[in-house]
Amino acid sequence: MSSQVGAGPKVAEPLARSTSGVLSWENDPGVPPTTRRPILRPEPELGRTPLPVGIRGPQLPDGGQPGTVEFRYWNLAEVLRRTADFWGPLLAPGTKWQSQVGPALLATLDAGDNLNAFYDREGVSFWHHTTNGITVYSGESPDVVAHEVGHAVLDAIRPQLWSVASAETDGFHESFGDISAILTHLTLPTMRTAVIAETSGRVSGSSQVSRLAEQMAWAIRQRRPASVEADCMRNAANNFFYQNPLTLPTEAPAAALSRESHSFSRVFTGAFFRALGGIFQDQDSQGPDALLEAARIAGQLLVAAVTTAPIVPAYYAQLAAHLIAEDRVAHDGRYGNSLRRAFIRHGILSPREAAGLEEGDLDGRSVGLFGDAEEPELTAHSVDGAEFGLDRPLSFILPANRTRFAVAGAAPEAGSADASPPDLVGNSYVEDLFRRDQVATPAQEHTEGPHPRHYTHKIIENGDEFRLERRLFACGARV
Ligand SMILES: [Zn+2]
Repeated sequence: MSSQVGAGPKVAEPLARSTSGVLSWENDPGVPPTTRRPILRPEPELGRTPLPVGIRGPQLPDGGQPGTVEFRYWNLAEVLRRTADFWGPLLAPGTKWQSQVGPALLATLDAGDNLNAFYDREGVSFWHHTTNGITVYSGESPDVVAHEVGHAVLDAIRPQLWSVASAETDGFHESFGDISAILTHLTLPTMRTAVIAETSGRVSGSSQVSRLAEQMAWAIRQRRPASVEADCMRNAANNFFYQNPLTLPTEAPAAALSRESHSFSRVFTGAFFRALGGIFQDQDSQGPDALLEAARIAGQLLVAAVTTAPIVPAYYAQLAAHLIAEDRVAHDGRYGNSLRRAFIRHGILSPREAAGLEEGDLDGRSVGLFGDAEEPELTAHSVDGAEFGLDRPLSFILPANRTRFAVAGAAPEAGSADASPPDLVGNSYVEDLFRRDQVATPAQEHTEGPHPRHYTHKIIENGDEFRLERRLFACGARV
């Protein structure tokens, strides 16, 4: 196994470091052979609260240069901390990782041969894979690391999303991961300056921060050229327009939208990134400090929306309505125009819905999770297992909270769409999982081959029926 090949600069001179810092990439090593240079960052204090993090196994010495395992170790440590430090202050005091994760979110630096990265409720894991003689380590990309930690943050504040049978909630989990990467990396002064320069101040345009996971996309492109975008895995500066996922194909090339979660995530990410650009323009000045402020405002609004929005089939529209509602409460509606414009532009709200939210639907409502009442349990739904080759009924969780705002996105022709019923959304989602071979049977759970198949879901025996549960979020390619 080659461990020294990779994205390190070809220059031989050591990069400067001091005893008080570590080297890490800004947001990605870049397409090999990279011309990027790591930056010096404060030595991370991994166990700090809120959101303590850690790396499994012995601590490696710092001071490593790109291309060494010591560099990858401290690069990972720094990005874990960087991401937790972005989200921590935005969460309710005392917020902890999802209870099965334990007190600290632990990362595995290199779990073996796979072009992938995972969040499960044991932690986050990163892998390596050699393509055309070049080894790519998913844990070396800050975009990938901050994305995985994003899954964990969302699971900490909205654990109900974990096992919901819905393409749209899964799409949002992936979107939150990408948003986590974008907002986290904007805490770097060098990144903010670079993005403002690259976009001439129109920061919702394509830039180094909007182009996610360039290096991993390069590796995937060598094998499946159509499955990632031309210059990155996903670009937050996009024009994808919302469609009801039931009307979309199960999978599609990267240039088109499908209801596969990573593909469909781009609609919400695109709208949110456009809104971020608007919030930046709404600041009193448009320098690097204002961009940091915009990132924090956008992140805070998103956290509030996630914790209040009901889990329903048209989930993106509910999130958008709750972002607008939270802006009213927190900022007296200062960013309402920017938010509405962005969500209309991407079809997540219809113009009529957005106007309705403005004119009074929100008046008199307090933004809080179901008022004083406990959030109702999401409903389990049982279908004939024979549809999926099973000899027992299969039960799974439907996206069936009570809707708070009557919004469901734009219709393709004009006006507003109707949301699909939760059982139809659930059935379609589960069928897609089987079509994509993402469900492990009880036997498969224990027999993984030399190239491990990491099923996202599993079925477990539950009395006279089977129950569908998530195992993990997988974020790369199957190789
Ligand atoms: Zn993901």
